Amino acid sequence: MKKLIAGNWKMHKTQKEAVETVTALVEMVSPLPEDREVLILPPYTSLSSVWNVIKDKQGFFLGGQNFYPAEKGAFTGEISADMLLDVGCSFSLVGHSERRKYFKETDEFINQKVLFGLRKGLKIILCIGEELKERKEGKVFDVLKTQLLKGLKGVSSEDIENKLCIAYEPVWAIGTGEVATEDQIQEAHSLIRDLLIEMFDDKGKNIKILYGGSVSPENIKTILPISNVNGVLVGGASLEPEKFSKIILA
Ligand code: PEP
Repeated sequence: MKKLIAGNWKMHKTQKEAVETVTALVEMVSPLPEDREVLILPPYTSLSSVWNVIKDKQGFFLGGQNFYPAEKGAFTGEISADMLLDVGCSFSLVGHSERRKYFKETDEFINQKVLFGLRKGLKIILCIGEELKERKEGKVFDVLKTQLLKGLKGVSSEDIENKLCIAYEPVWAIGTGEVATEDQIQEAHSLIRDLLIEMFDDKGKNIKILYGGSVSPENIKTILPISNVNGVLVGGASLEPEKFSKIILA
C-alpha cells in the first residue's frame, strides 16, 4: 500500500503564497518515490491555483478541508461536494477536530457528510481522535469506537472501495508539538484496523489509516514504519516546502 502524505493548510496562504509553496514542493520531491502519494488540502480560494500546478504531476492529489452535505441551495458560506470535484479535488477531509470544536460538528452531521461525499465520488478522510482529558480517563478506545461507528453509520463495503481513509489525530497532539508515542499510535491504529475489519470484512484491511498530530521531519521516520500507519496528515509542517518535502521523502 502506498503511503499517503497529506498536507492540511487550514486557513493559511493567499493564492500567490499557495502557488509559490506548491511549486517549490513539487520541484523538491519530483519524481516522487513509487511508494508515496501526496495530497494537498489548501483553503477553498487556492484550490484551482494549486490544481493548475499539480494536475499533471504523477502521485499528487488535491482535496478540500470540508464541504456541506447537500446538492446546492441556500447555505450561505458553504461549498458543495460537486464544487470541490469541479476544481480538481478527489479527496475531502471530514470531521477534523477543529471543525468538531469550533463549528460544533456532531458525529451525526459528520456521518451525513461521509455518506454524501462518498455518493458523490469524493474520497473521504474521516478524522477521529480523543481529547487529553479522555485519554487521562482511560477512554481512548471508547471515543475512537464511537466516532468511527457513528461517523461510518450506513456506509457499506461497496461504498468504500479505495474511497475511504481514516485519520487518527489525538486532539492534544494537533499543533502542540507533542507527538503521540510509538506505542500510543500503534495501539490506536490497531484498534481502528480491527474495527474496520469488523465493519467491512476484508475491505477493511485496505483502508488507509493516517496518523496526524505534530508530524515533523524529525519524527516522521519513527512514525511511518509503525504497523497500520499508512500515511500521515500534516498541519503546520506542510506549510513550508523544505519541511514537507523531508516528510514526503522520509
Ligand atoms: C492537523 O491539522 O490535522 C494537524 C495534524 O496539525 P499539526 O500537524 O500542526 O499538528
